[in-house]
Amino acid sequence: MNIVEPVLQTSTRLTHAGRKGKDHAAFVNPSVVRASTMLFPDVASLKNACGTRRAYGRHGNETTQALEQALCAAEGAAACMLTPSGLSAVTTTLLALLQPGDHLLMVDTVYDPTRLFCDGMLKQMGVTTTYYDPLVGRDIADLMQFNTKVVFVESPGSLTFEIQDIPGIAAAAHARDAVVVSDSTWATPIGWDSFELGIDVSIHAATKYIVGHSDALMGAILTTAALEERIRNTYRQLGMTIGADDAALALRGLRTLAARLAAHRESAHVIARWLKEQPEVAEVLYPPMPGSPGHEIWKRDFKAEYACGLMGAVFRSDITEQQVAALIDRTRLFGIGFSWGGFESLILPTNPASYRSVNATKWQAPMLRLHVGLEAVEDLLTDLEQGFTALRKNHETAQERNYLKAVI
Ligand SMILES: *Cc1c(COP(=O)(O)O)cnc(C)c1O
Repeated sequence: MNIVEPVLQTSTRLTHAGRKGKDHAAFVNPSVVRASTMLFPDVASLKNACGTRRAYGRHGNETTQALEQALCAAEGAAACMLTPSGLSAVTTTLLALLQPGDHLLMVDTVYDPTRLFCDGMLKQMGVTTTYYDPLVGRDIADLMQFNTKVVFVESPGSLTFEIQDIPGIAAAAHARDAVVVSDSTWATPIGWDSFELGIDVSIHAATKYIVGHSDALMGAILTTAALEERIRNTYRQLGMTIGADDAALALRGLRTLAARLAAHRESAHVIARWLKEQPEVAEVLYPPMPGSPGHEIWKRDFKAEYACGLMGAVFRSDITEQQVAALIDRTRLFGIGFSWGGFESLILPTNPASYRSVNATKWQAPMLRLHVGLEAVEDLLTDLEQGFTALRKNHETAQERNYLKAVI
């Protein structure tokens, strides 16, 4: 009798992926294997194991492999490689796919440390990088050179949240045999069908929503069968690996990813709408919100139920940095700090114009980045209201000061 396996929904996959199902008469979770050396009963077994992933701790263990399997199932990838940080997942992938003399098309809105790697080590290696406008779409074809090997996308863009036309970009890249690499951290493994959109390598700072509790750093490289060996070769040579304790934390985070995103998203919509009504705010950058820049393409390519809680806000140009600092300093529930994707709300002043090459002048007004956490949204709104009161007070004193200066 043929039993047809049903296609499982995302939250079901997240709950069961990487586990042994009913055959597993033991604890729910894999054990945390703290290990380096692996012992073999005899020389024949040692020889058999060499070259496989069952020979030495650096190549993984039961805990890390359970996480790899679960992430593959979550995003529909053929292979997963885990790294000690999101940034090392990006650098490992670029080192694997680029050689001296190659050209890289890098989105201008990329996470800043990725940019430093392109301008630093990749440049030293003889790889040239062109930064392109995130909104270029299919016209990326005009930027392709004979030696362009990788087109790197990050959508939404870091700090400014532009949504890229990934299928359009991927079609142009594939027509010239270039590989599309995506920093998919915002989308998470479940926020879109990355491989169907044309992405070949989907990278995550698992530090963010996958770990989800601000207690570990990790990166994940998810890819197709066609690219696995090439990337794994570099991954191995670089000695990339992760510890089992961190893998267990990430696996625990992944199990609740869908449920957490639902809560983050719900509050984020409320906060985004509220921010939009504040007279000092010129624009809210939250693509899941109708009317936000990029919303139409976002709706086409992303899954609305798994939007996350990270957004930007642009102030009117007459608002000063000091006023924004007064707002930020006044909030009590929004922590001031880098990273995001944990259970807690965060707030940060941003200044993308300081390092962009394309359309940098567009971003001159003060900006904020907000991560909306799992606190009750009423409390977050009250906290922000108090922040805006502090911003407005600061405005008055600034005006008064100017008035005083004028009369003296
Ligand atoms: C945080 C982040 C990274 C880097 O992750 P780390 O684990 O901090 O190294 C990479 N890309 C994006 C988009 C990020 O937000």
